[in-house]
Amino acid sequence: MMDFLPFALPEIGDEEINEVVDSLRSGWVTTGPKAKRFEEAFTSFLGGNGIESISVNSATSGLHLALEAVGVGPGDEVIVPTYTFTATAEIVRYLGATPVMVDVDEHTFNMTAAHFERAITHKTKAVVPVHFAGLACDMDPIIQVAKKHGIRVIEDAAHALPTIYKGKLIGTLDSDVVVFSFYANKTMTTGEGGMVVTTNQEIAKRCKVMRLHGISRDAFDRYTSTKPAWSYEVIAPGYKYNMPDISAAIGIHQLLKLPVFQVKRQRMAEYYYEALKDLPIDLPALPIQGCSHAWHLFPIRLKDEVLVSRDHFIEKMAELGIGCSVHFIPLHLHPYWRDTYNLTPEMYPVAQCIFESEVTLPLYTKMTDDDLLRVVAAVRQVLVND
Ligand SMILES: *Cc1c(COP(=O)(O)O)cnc(C)c1O
Repeated sequence: MMDFLPFALPEIGDEEINEVVDSLRSGWVTTGPKAKRFEEAFTSFLGGNGIESISVNSATSGLHLALEAVGVGPGDEVIVPTYTFTATAEIVRYLGATPVMVDVDEHTFNMTAAHFERAITHKTKAVVPVHFAGLACDMDPIIQVAKKHGIRVIEDAAHALPTIYKGKLIGTLDSDVVVFSFYANKTMTTGEGGMVVTTNQEIAKRCKVMRLHGISRDAFDRYTSTKPAWSYEVIAPGYKYNMPDISAAIGIHQLLKLPVFQVKRQRMAEYYYEALKDLPIDLPALPIQGCSHAWHLFPIRLKDEVLVSRDHFIEKMAELGIGCSVHFIPLHLHPYWRDTYNLTPEMYPVAQCIFESEVTLPLYTKMTDDDLLRVVAAVRQVLVND
């Protein structure tokens, strides 16, 4: 019996381990010099140009800070896709506002400008497009519609590092804020962590203050500036969302490795594409010219003619030693969202249909060529030989 191939695993090397040990030995374990270094490196990765990178302890906290900073509050509506992780919508509830779920495109599984525009009311304050699996939403028309109606755009880029949209990296488009995730299974990790990116100085300032208790200077500045170390001012009831140096230490080296990770993911996706193309499945949407895919996920759909059910397919794959997953259980099917906002599958026919046939195959940089072969052989066996 071969080892079970997990659905996802991070790739952590000696560089990350040594940097964490260095932090532990240095005595500075919370937010400090390494968080600053990580933020500067992240800004450089995105090309500089007035970008502020603000490290946080998760993308969820980053999204919360972003919506708070653009002024989302009670009575406001925020448009989100139903085909996403619950974090995209829960942050709207944190602020007492109402998430308005919209359906998605059947090929990209992404929200489009048309979905967005149809859901706009006089209460709409912001929209949170999600770049599903690492393929960018068609952002130009989304930003255009948002500008026309005075709506703020916060990109949930948890899957989109690095993703290129029409020649530009996600993180450098003309939206208000972009938030990346460094959760354990994302394209790079800090264990838990996220990055808020914006070129708007006011939003950046607010996020930095609210990230640490609403204090006007963060802990590191307190111990390095000329003012007495004990002195600080609270200007708002902020949160505790700062990224510790122990996490940033991991992030510094993961970011350096990201281009290599990306090449590996791209090659793996290409391999799957070629090896699975004759099977009765729909393969994931590919980027159009001038765009690229981060390949955080490799989502396939079982065609109607496939006799085995989606759930049974995943069970069979597990029996053959392969971990698969489903992305996502759409928001409208979760009891809280369904019952609070009276959502039904009929309101989201496309997302519902995608969900019922979707399977996410394992794709991560630690997988070997043999692992890929095993996955393909297992898919073939379940779909063809069973
Ligand atoms: C992972 C994820 C998040 C949350 O990221 P955390 O860093 O775990 O808070 C948000 N949105 C989407 C679409 C995600 O997949």
